[in-house]
Amino acid sequence: MTARILDGNALSAKLRSELAAQAAELTARGVQPGLAVILVGDNAASAVYVRNKVAACEKAGIRSLKFDYPQDAQPAAVLAKIAELNADPAVHGILVQLPLPPRFDEKVVLEAISVDKDVDGFHAENVGRLSQGQPAFFPCTPHGVMKILEYGDIPVTGSDAVVVGRSNIVGKPMAMLLTQAGATVTVCHSKTRDLAAHTRRADILVVAMGRALAIGAEMIKPGATVIDVGMNRFPDGHPQAGKLCGDVDFDAAKAVAGAITPVPGGVGPMTITMLLANTVESARRAAEGGR
Ligand code: NDP
Repeated sequence: MTARILDGNALSAKLRSELAAQAAELTARGVQPGLAVILVGDNAASAVYVRNKVAACEKAGIRSLKFDYPQDAQPAAVLAKIAELNADPAVHGILVQLPLPPRFDEKVVLEAISVDKDVDGFHAENVGRLSQGQPAFFPCTPHGVMKILEYGDIPVTGSDAVVVGRSNIVGKPMAMLLTQAGATVTVCHSKTRDLAAHTRRADILVVAMGRALAIGAEMIKPGATVIDVGMNRFPDGHPQAGKLCGDVDFDAAKAVAGAITPVPGGVGPMTITMLLANTVESARRAAEGGR
């Protein structure tokens, strides 16, 4: 068997062109969607993510504002900027790129963002509302995974889903969304006793471990849908050393799985697409006087 490839680039292109049309319509009504992005410090990967997000906004007709702070910035300065952006009616989404330098308390920073502008969906109130099925915004990466499943015609209701990883930004909200969609969900993590015993039962396997090539073909049920969230580099000694790879050994897994996302070109582009979707949705609510 060779798995069907769930192409996140193609789905993103389709959804982004729909979002660009919605952004143009809102702009014509005098409400151009606006996203403010705050980057603190000199993390090279974060700088690339922010650049990609800003470029995607511009392409979709969303106004982006970027605020850079040095590694030794004071938390008070960033919190003051967030307060200013919360009050700015031209800003519909506020994103603080994580991780923040060690002197910052991430929780305090994320909760300073107005719930109505929390387009990443990381605010504690949004997390709580997500568990009740009604967040102001769905967190982008798990929401992007749900879209991949939806557009890939993968049945979720009644399926056995396994999520590997329990982080606040991927694993936990992923498990909640799958549960709400009717899957029976198992969440695995570093303390799980026999990971393969769980992954081999999964009709839908979502992997968000941050461990290059950790999931091999022998850990996948034949015909399963495999969603690889991981973004790592092939290890030294590998023929593709240094290039981007996922948590799943894609070449081996695609011979067993029924459908699979590649890395790159799977979940990654969908994360940014859902950020754009949340920003456009926030602007739509503002245009309709929803807040
Ligand atoms: P974290 O490091 O916060 O979480 C990793 C999770 O994997 C933890 O819950 C950890 O368990 C679990 N884990 C680690 N090792 C094992 C193991 N050997 N067996 C079972 N579970 C294990 O990472 P994130 O959730 O932030 O990200 C995960 C991956 O997804 C990363 O590669 C990241 O770069 C990528 N990512 C990709 C995005 C995209 O848009 N494509 C967006 C966000 C992240 P424990 O809790 O016990 O430590």
